[in-house]
Amino acid sequence: MIQSLLTRDVRKVPDRVRFTGRVLLLTEDPALLHRQLAGEDLPFDPSAPVGSPTHPKLRDNISTDEITPAYICYYFDDTLGQFPYLGLKAGEEFPLVRGSVRAGGFVASVAGTRRGKGSSREASPYAEMHAGIRIVIAESIERIYRENCQNLGVFTSTDFSLIQRIRDGEEIALEELTRGEGGISRGIVEYGGLFNYNVARLQGKVEVPVVTTPERPMTIAEKIFARHWVLDAAKEKVGIPAVQPGDQGFVRTDIRFSHEYVTPMAAIFFEELVGKNEPVNDPGSVFFFRDHLTFLSQVMRPEHVEMGLLDVANQLEAKQRIFAGEKGIKLYGELNRLNLHGALSAQGSEAICHSKILEAHAEPGQIIIGSDSHTPHAGAVGCIAFGVGTTAIFNSWITKDVRVEVPPTFRVTLRGEKPRNVTAKDFMLEILRHPYIKGGSAIGQIIEYAGGAVASLSVDERATMTNMAAEVGAFTGIIAPDEKTVEYLVGQRGITPEAARALCKGLYSDDGATYVEEIEIDAASIRPMIALPGDPGNGIYIDEMERDVKIDIAYAGSCTAGKKDDMDMYAKVFSEALDRGEKVAEGVRCFIQCGSQEVFAYCRAQGYDEVFAAVGATLIEPSCGACINAGPGISRTREEVTISAINRNFPGRSGPGQLYLASPYTVAASAIAGRIVAWDADARQLAHA
Ligand code: SF4
Repeated sequence: MIQSLLTRDVRKVPDRVRFTGRVLLLTEDPALLHRQLAGEDLPFDPSAPVGSPTHPKLRDNISTDEITPAYICYYFDDTLGQFPYLGLKAGEEFPLVRGSVRAGGFVASVAGTRRGKGSSREASPYAEMHAGIRIVIAESIERIYRENCQNLGVFTSTDFSLIQRIRDGEEIALEELTRGEGGISRGIVEYGGLFNYNVARLQGKVEVPVVTTPERPMTIAEKIFARHWVLDAAKEKVGIPAVQPGDQGFVRTDIRFSHEYVTPMAAIFFEELVGKNEPVNDPGSVFFFRDHLTFLSQVMRPEHVEMGLLDVANQLEAKQRIFAGEKGIKLYGELNRLNLHGALSAQGSEAICHSKILEAHAEPGQIIIGSDSHTPHAGAVGCIAFGVGTTAIFNSWITKDVRVEVPPTFRVTLRGEKPRNVTAKDFMLEILRHPYIKGGSAIGQIIEYAGGAVASLSVDERATMTNMAAEVGAFTGIIAPDEKTVEYLVGQRGITPEAARALCKGLYSDDGATYVEEIEIDAASIRPMIALPGDPGNGIYIDEMERDVKIDIAYAGSCTAGKKDDMDMYAKVFSEALDRGEKVAEGVRCFIQCGSQEVFAYCRAQGYDEVFAAVGATLIEPSCGACINAGPGISRTREEVTISAINRNFPGRSGPGQLYLASPYTVAASAIAGRIVAWDADARQLAHA
């Protein structure tokens, strides 16, 4: 317990709020955005037909990549306020420029469905807040983004009638802005953010509602929540018999991790709000990663270097490293090796955070939080792993717990036997285009994967599915542990099978557990897929493509597709190509990037490095790299076409070009063909799309 917090003066915000400023409608039509930036307030009548003059079509699916593109997140202080919406695409334009929001005097920002999807970066609402935005209104709002707003003290609402009332200068009761929120979320809003709320909680000023759910059949996720439920933070009392969806409280975490994009901002919050010399609670269960920007210097555009962005980005690495040293926290950093000239230079990261957490730390039944939306990756071994924002991570360094509202679970059962050229990535692209997910119903829910086709997958492949729970918009993804999990833990951690089985004990969904939705898919009916540029939900079967798509770049890497099994798939397709006397097609640049040094060593041990070199692919040491637009493999022009095994293809994600998502097999086969093709597992040759 940090004693100084117990005497800190914390108060609720006033119970009526007036928003003084303009309302920015984030419209699909760029001309309407330009008119607003020029000073015009557009009429908005939510009851009028969408697309009519008084109800312009609002942008759906605004991702955090669009609110604050990756390069903007090199800033980690209030400078961010100059940059919100720089990546926002309207038509073919990016109408918002540096300073637009502040100059326009906007206080509210309005959008359509799935506002704030994608990465968990709190830099997005933080940038909006420092640009003057105090309330975000949207048809639906993604969980992490909404929580990040609340944690920072930015209001959120799905009530479009507020627009006119804000314009009229009306006072709005705080109660209207917390309606429908559970007790804890309401408390956080009432205290103006998570830190103040937690201080009030530690001081006993707020009471966390007691969960009294009687014993009931539970899903595996609910069981894990119940085991970790905080009854009394001061007395370390943890665990209750049962929970049900909607229960709110705090859960004790087993692992907390963050990477260089988030740690520095969280460290500043900690130093400013808690105290520079105060200790982090249980630093042995905290991990930091230098993974996102290791190769940035190789690809940053000269004009961005001119702007000083490389220096700013390098400060992220330094701030995290220094804070880790001061607080005794394990940092998986970057590796320096001697270059050809005998000088030390960065040669990649030790690991991408999700890769290392799964390889070395995650255990069945744990609760893991990470500063990244793909934290569900670790759910592949049957734990609850979910992404949180900067403020939640920083608060967990104080309390070791994190707030949750138990989400409903939906189950996706994949039956039957998949074709040999179909992978977990194809499963996910199929799932992502299902109406339940595309329509936004799955947002904030837990996706439990089950069925014979899932059971037959390796843990690496399962991780592709839990990783992409982020693209589903789910709270997390989970797969109940089984003998494959036991084998994985024995192989990776060097523990005995008995010890591994003990970790898995009781971790299954009970008969009679409640699912909010059940989806069944016949794995045998799935064929190799791609997601068309713009959204991972744009999946189609490759054999349904209407035209040949020539490619310029094939990128095979990231946390999703930089695992050992992924390397096996790339190597298999490339070895077959070499047997046929083929190489990466002329004009195509092909990159293979490992998720960790362990995977890199595996490639060398298997001789894959030689296969990749022989076929004409470049093997790169671990880092997020091109996946976050920060390494070899990014596109440089809008016309360039990339086929990539990463998990998301939101506009601008990996450069300005057109980004198609596909499985490791498809990426490798397409690199050889020079156009998008599926790998034909049976014919040992390329199948025409
Ligand atoms: S590899 Fe890509 S998706 Fe994975 S953590 Fe890094 S940036 Fe995020």
